[in-house]
Amino acid sequence: MARGIRSIKILGMCLVAALLLAGGGLVVLARRQVPAAEPAPDVVSVAELDQLIVRLRPLQTPLGKPRPFDWLAMYHEPEQTFRQYLASEPVQPDRVRRVLYVQPLGAMTLKQREIVDLTAEFMQRYFGLPVTAMPDLSLNEVPAKAQRPSPFGGRQILTGYVLDRVLKPRLPDDAVACIAFTAADLWPGEGWNFVFGQASLRGRVGVWSLARQGDPAAGPDGWRLCLLRTLKVATHETGHMFGMGHCTLWECNMCGSNSLPEADRHPLALCPECLAKLCWCLGVRPEEHLRRVSEFCAAQGLETERQAAAAALKALPAPVPEPAATSRE
Ligand SMILES: [Zn+2]
Ligand SMILES: [Zn+2]
Repeated sequence: MARGIRSIKILGMCLVAALLLAGGGLVVLARRQVPAAEPAPDVVSVAELDQLIVRLRPLQTPLGKPRPFDWLAMYHEPEQTFRQYLASEPVQPDRVRRVLYVQPLGAMTLKQREIVDLTAEFMQRYFGLPVTAMPDLSLNEVPAKAQRPSPFGGRQILTGYVLDRVLKPRLPDDAVACIAFTAADLWPGEGWNFVFGQASLRGRVGVWSLARQGDPAAGPDGWRLCLLRTLKVATHETGHMFGMGHCTLWECNMCGSNSLPEADRHPLALCPECLAKLCWCLGVRPEEHLRRVSEFCAAQGLETERQAAAAALKALPAPVPEPAATSRE
């Protein structure tokens, strides 16, 4: 496969289980989705991010040999280094489009609503962008023709309809992306029996289901597991919207996952290459990202994730202090 940087394949649908149609037509190309505009403020230089990669690499766990049916056992994907990412001219927020919108879709339990609200807060911390919750939408927005009886019982809604007919027409002018969360189960079309979520990179919209992320009412551990899974999928898929490909070298939140057990094995933290991509794309200082993630994880009892962010923070060089202001008096 050609490794042309502008034609790196990004799979907008990553957490797919019980795949019936291997490699179905669900691959989209990562190209510039947002018209050229002014990039994010240059608050962190490429040279500084190169240094960050070198500093953090010793903390990183290499991605082991894929297990049967793991993502990389099923799909060949080229690596995407930080430098390759830069050359791909990824989508960046600009002065007009810089709000991430979260769209609740359909009824949710109080616990599910808590998870969605916390995920919105986390995304603000993680991406350093304003996040705005849209008014709730009813599942009545999805007509019968875009629903079906689920092979697992209950009903499923068609992801393509949600993306194209529900979300895109409502995309605000200042949206860099809009993601919908629903408690309903999803399927992406013929040949698939369900999907955890799907994103349209060009359309800047995505939808993710809480239906298979565990029961947030199943005690504190169940609640934390559902939260952690939802944080991972929301940030992973939104990372794709900013042109970040699947990580193929390190244990990382941007690793592709073909099943829930595989997704559970991958961490919430980004590897140094992917952290550099995020910081460059969004104009976020790495220590600010890590500090905000660490604080959130501490508040929510996600201790493993807090420790990972804290260890990376500790390994970063001390920031250069601002020159002291001089008084003329
Ligand atoms: Zn993915
Ligand atoms: Zn990575």
